[in-house]
Formats: sequence, C-alpha cells, structure tokens
Amino acid sequence: MKEKAVIIGGGLSGSLLAICLAKRGLEVELYERRSDMRTTIAEGGRSINLALSTRGIEALKKVGLADQVLNDAIPMTGRQMHSKIGELTNQPYGTDGQYINSVSRAGLNLKLVQLAGEYPNVKMFFNCKCTDANLKNNSATIITSDGAEIQVSGDIMFGTDGAFSAIRSEMQKTNRFNYSQTYENYGYKELEIVPGKNGSFQIDQNALHIWPRGEFMMIALPNLEGSFTCTLFLGYEGAQSFANLKDEASILEFFNTYFADAVPMMPNLVKDFMENPIGNLVTVRCNPWVINRFALVGDAAHAIIPFYGQGMNCSFEDVKDLDDLIEQHYPNWDVILDEYQKARIVNANAIADLACKNFVEMRDLVGRPEFMKFKHVEHELCDLYPEHFQSQYELVTFNTTPYSYAQSQGGKNEALIYSLIEQGLDTDLENRDIIIPLIQKYKQ
Ligand SMILES: Cc1cc2nc3c(=O)[nH]c(=O)nc-3n(C[C@H](O)[C@H](O)[C@H](O)COP(=O)(O)OP(=O)(O)OC[C@H]3O[C@@H](n4cnc5c(N)ncnc54)[C@H](O)[C@@H]3O)c2cc1C
Repeated sequence: MKEKAVIIGGGLSGSLLAICLAKRGLEVELYERRSDMRTTIAEGGRSINLALSTRGIEALKKVGLADQVLNDAIPMTGRQMHSKIGELTNQPYGTDGQYINSVSRAGLNLKLVQLAGEYPNVKMFFNCKCTDANLKNNSATIITSDGAEIQVSGDIMFGTDGAFSAIRSEMQKTNRFNYSQTYENYGYKELEIVPGKNGSFQIDQNALHIWPRGEFMMIALPNLEGSFTCTLFLGYEGAQSFANLKDEASILEFFNTYFADAVPMMPNLVKDFMENPIGNLVTVRCNPWVINRFALVGDAAHAIIPFYGQGMNCSFEDVKDLDDLIEQHYPNWDVILDEYQKARIVNANAIADLACKNFVEMRDLVGRPEFMKFKHVEHELCDLYPEHFQSQYELVTFNTTPYSYAQSQGGKNEALIYSLIEQGLDTDLENRDIIIPLIQKYKQ
C-alpha cells in the first residue's frame, strides 16, 4: 500500500510540496483554510508581487514550472532609489545578466495548485481549517467548509500553514521546544502606482524602486499590467507613523513631503491607505522542526521579515532539499526528517538575521553617499574578479550556497571593502597584484 502524506496549508510551500510528494508516488491529502483559488481568483483584483530568485527557481525547476513562472515575471536588474526631491540613483543587483523576478503571488500559487490538481494521487480540500494536531498518533483536527469536525491522519504529516501555524502551536506544547517570535515596531501597507497611458510603466519597469527615508521607506515592484505594487514600511507609533496618518489631510501631507514624485502616479492613494490593512512584520524561529512524523516547512518553521526578498525562496528551498533527501533515503523517514532539519534550521536562522540587517540597509543606508561608495567598490570587485569575489547579495540571491555561508562571507567582504577604502585602494581596484592577495587574505 502506498504511504499517505497529509499537508496542512496550501500556500506557496504546501502546494509545491504536494507536487513533489505526488511525483514520488505518495498519496497526498492537502487541507487549506482558504477557498479554492482555481475557481475563486478575482480577475483584476489588487496585484501583490514577490521577488523570485535562484533558490526559488531551482525548486520550481524540479517540478517543471520554472519556465512558465518566469514567462510571466518581470526582471528587476537593480535597485532604483528615489530621493526626497525626486533624484534617481541606481544600484545593480549583480553583474550583467543577473536579476531578480517580480512575480504575482496569486498567479504563482494558482499555477502550483493547478499543477498539484493534475496528479490523480493528490486530493485537495479547501475551506478546511486545521485547529489541532495529535503529534503522537499522526492526526490533525480539521473544521470543514460545512462546519464538521473531522480527524485526518497520514504516515507523514507536514505543517505548511504559514507564520501562525496551527501545527507549530501544538509543537510548542511539547517538552524542550525552542520558540521565539519577534515583532518589528513597523507595519506595512500595500498601495499602488497605476499604469500610464496604454498600460505603460510610469517608472523604470526593470528596477525594484526604493524611497529610503531613514526611519521608514516605501518600495515598489512592477506588475505585468503596468502597475507597481508599493509597500510602505512605517512605525506604528512616533512622529512619522501610522498612528498619525488617520485622515486624508495627514496622509496627503505625509506623502507629498516624503514621496512627492510618486504621488501623481497614485490616484487611489487616500482610498487605498484608508482601506488596506496594516500588516505585521514578524520573525519566528523554532527548533526542532520535526516531532515524531510531523515536520514544519516554509514560514511555519521560519517566518522572516521581507527585506532580503527570501521568505518564499527559502521556503521553496526547504521543499527542494526535503525532496532531494526523499530521493536519497525514502522510505527511511527518520533519516530524511533528521537530515532535513539539521540542514535547514541553521540556514533559516542565517537568512532571518540577514533580513533584519537588510531592513536598515534599505530604509536608511542606500540613500547615503558612504554606502553608495561601499556598493560601488563591491560591484567593481564582482565585475573585475568574478573568480575570486562574490558579494553577499549574490551569494544569497543568485546562488544556492548555504545562507550560513553567505552570512559569514558577507562579514568578511565588509571588512575587505572598508579596508580597501581606508587605504585609498578603491581608486586602484584594477591592480590585480595588490587586490587579489587582499581578497584571498580576507576570505580566510
Ligand atoms: C510584505 C511581504 C513581502 C514579501 N516579499 C517576499 C519576496 O519578495 N520574496 C520572497 O521570497 N518572500 C517574500 N515574502 C515572504 C513570503 O510571502 C513567505 O515566505 C511565503 O509566503 C511562505 O510560504 P508558505 O507557504 O510557507 O506560507 P504562506 O504563504 O503563508 O501559506 C500558508 C498557507 O496555509 C494556510 N493556512 C494557515 N493556517 C491554516 C490552518 N490552520 N489550516 C489550514 N490552512 C491554513 C493559509 O491560508 C495559506 O494558504 C514576503 C512577505 C511579506 C509579508
């Protein structure tokens, strides 16, 4: 008899995991709280997008979806910063040919659910909320769409139910379960830059736009139909904060002061601001991710704040690594799950740290001349010495090297670059005889 896997949560990681397990011949049951997006997705609704990069693409390749997803993506080759008076500066993300991809969250989830639905060994149940789990007997309690309470069980159970996971909540009740949840003092609100005439883009379509303002910022990512999804990250309290933006006059004054160049492109600003909710920014860490035959995957295991654009990419990489381990060790779930958490926890913690650090970089440092100099030197080193030097951003975004390696290498890169600037060598970067030995020295 085939083994049965139960997946709780049919978001990005749950639906990808369903496909991987189905390909390996398991019977898969997936329970999702929301309705079936194959029948309910609203055409013309608000677009929310995500930056997809190498780790996520590699995972999508495993299930044959990468090309289809990238066909509907917009390449973003770098950051474009908007100063308070509307001056623009650019920072490329990598060397020529390296870019991240703006993809529609709903479109990507839909593609994954559609593909999962094509496998006869996948059964998906929507409007089904998990409320409880029994970690000892491999079962979970589900409230179905008609309000019935049912028990579901499998040989292997996965919690892919996001940052506020019901499965993780049950794990928290067990002995020696480590858990931390940290909220930023910032929230976020999604807004929109509308398309120009005939669906044209009103600002550079191939950039991730940032309006860095020190203590807060707005970013914008392009959508296929010519609009940009803007996200304002702002404190809950304080002089410039959500607490002080309660009516049309205060909202307009704030935006005209800090984001004046964007305001004419945001005709629905006040309405969107009033209607759209404020999202929380939370980092969740836990250890272990596996108890008996239950395993956490994706945000359920590691919610991170979005400033490195890696939450989904990391979640997809969880699924890919898990699938590689299944390929090697199936049906030995003890080995598969043990290796999975050993490999992933350390890396999830590393990208969680890097995401926190990048928040300061995006909202504040990117607008400062000394940081621009740092970035310029870093970019030159990448260009001139690709065999010897890779930036942390490259290692995280255009690579599948472990996040923990990218984290430690980033620290060494920083020391190297500040030393080059201090010694005045930033004007002599083409001098291979001096620069290569220095790169080697700082790598150790
Ligand atoms: C503002 C913002 C911007 C972001 N930008 C990026 C980006 O650019 N790049 C990137 O890589 N990542 C980004 N992320 C992170 C990314 O959204 C998440 O990492 C990703 O969605 C995680 O996927 P997941 O499937 O693990 O969780 P989710 O996408 O949260 O999916 C969880 C699913 O489980 C369901 N569920 C929840 N509870 C239950 C329950 N009790 N029973 C049944 N079902 C349940 C939910 O309905 C949902 O469908 C961003 C996040 C935010 C907040």
